[in-house]
Amino acid sequence: MTVRVRFAPSPTGMFHVGGARSALQNWIFAKQQDGVFVLRIEDTDAARNKPEWTEGILAALEWIGIARGSYEGPYFQSSYATEHRAAASRLHEAGRAYYCDCTREAVQARTGSAHTGYDGFCRDRNLGPGAGRALRFRTPDEGATVVVDLIRGEPTFENRLIEDFVIARSDGSPVFLLANVVDDMTMGITHVVRAEEHLPNTPKQQLLWEALGVKPPVWAHVPVVVNEKRQKLSKRRDKVALEAYRDEGYLADAMRNYLMLLGWAPAGDREIVPWPAIEEEFRLEGVNPSSAFFDEKKLRAFNGEYIRALPVADFIAACQPWLTGTATIAPPPWQPDEFDAEAFAAVAPLAQTRIAVLSEIVPNVDFLFLDSPLIDEGAWAKAMKEGAGDLLDAVIAAFTAVPSWDADSTKSTLEAVGAEHGLKLGKAQAPVRVAVTGRRVGLPLFESLEVLGRERTLARLQAARLRLP
Ligand code: GLU
Repeated sequence: MTVRVRFAPSPTGMFHVGGARSALQNWIFAKQQDGVFVLRIEDTDAARNKPEWTEGILAALEWIGIARGSYEGPYFQSSYATEHRAAASRLHEAGRAYYCDCTREAVQARTGSAHTGYDGFCRDRNLGPGAGRALRFRTPDEGATVVVDLIRGEPTFENRLIEDFVIARSDGSPVFLLANVVDDMTMGITHVVRAEEHLPNTPKQQLLWEALGVKPPVWAHVPVVVNEKRQKLSKRRDKVALEAYRDEGYLADAMRNYLMLLGWAPAGDREIVPWPAIEEEFRLEGVNPSSAFFDEKKLRAFNGEYIRALPVADFIAACQPWLTGTATIAPPPWQPDEFDAEAFAAVAPLAQTRIAVLSEIVPNVDFLFLDSPLIDEGAWAKAMKEGAGDLLDAVIAAFTAVPSWDADSTKSTLEAVGAEHGLKLGKAQAPVRVAVTGRRVGLPLFESLEVLGRERTLARLQAARLRLP
């Protein structure tokens, strides 16, 4: 038997990091089993689907290493409407489903509660199809449905507690629960690896598999992803879109490494693990069933480590979308012709050790490419205390006279000027840094001055001096 798994997202919004995690788990499992990964877009909710969400899913999958052409599909659930309807009819013909014209209000009036579910009123009324009649599955009165789940053991559901649930609406259209099962059957899926949120659907779906005469798949419900308050990650509250992380400058390798740690840990004390080793070591059976905390701070730290591990040339290449403005977030503040690739290459190794996400490259280097720096007024107020004007006058004179313009000379020069003003180097640096870069923190100052050059450094110091009393 060939293992066939599927990833079945609904294109109703940005691509969720939890979805990306499930996709990767399916992907690795298929690979390990010499199996097939199927991508199915569950696009039957016409009101909420948009083609651009589907495009977004395909692009995001590609970004984390699940490339078009290397999987089966994408199939679209909407193309299988005939199969969905045929399955509903078969269940009806076999007596496993019946038509029901009860309104919610009528059920409530009989049961006295909005929560007990359907009471089986139409089970033996033998209604035919017709307006206002939904098709309900006749769940067994006895016995139990045992779900074989690679992560959760054998969750067991008593059949008498499963209501006769709707499988097709009164307009004849099958509901998601059935469509999802029929597609899995049609596509020969052997293992359903999906989020824990779907576990309550699973006994119903397994009953449908059995009623349609096909051996149910093996299930694996991977843990729900939560925020620091242990709330399920929600797109309204939390940053959940994989695209948002990509656009901010997370590296795909860091992202997919981190995503795989949501519910699983490699042996030993390792967390940063090269992808080929993850592909080898990951075990679906080893996934922890309890909820997994998506820790953005930790992900940032991870990303920083991945950035630092890049060869400098790769780092420079990886920064390009933010430097050129092709990344979808805000373009850089300089004009394309102001960018100087050589100057950037000179400071790139300094920046590489300091940034956690690639988009942070822009505020670290913008002073190199702009005619005058973007002054952060808060930083200015803090750095330009009383006496800053005198200090800058002295620095301008000393920098004009320094024989060779390099980091060591400007450093010792500023050290000496600072000492004359009773300032340690750190204190003397602050006004110079703000005057030259506009900010209080950034790349090492003296290397920056070396790359910027004497003339531009002096011009900025003079401009700052003019603003001071
Ligand atoms: N389309 C469903 C979702 O987006 C997936 C259901 C499944 O994996 O069985 O949650």
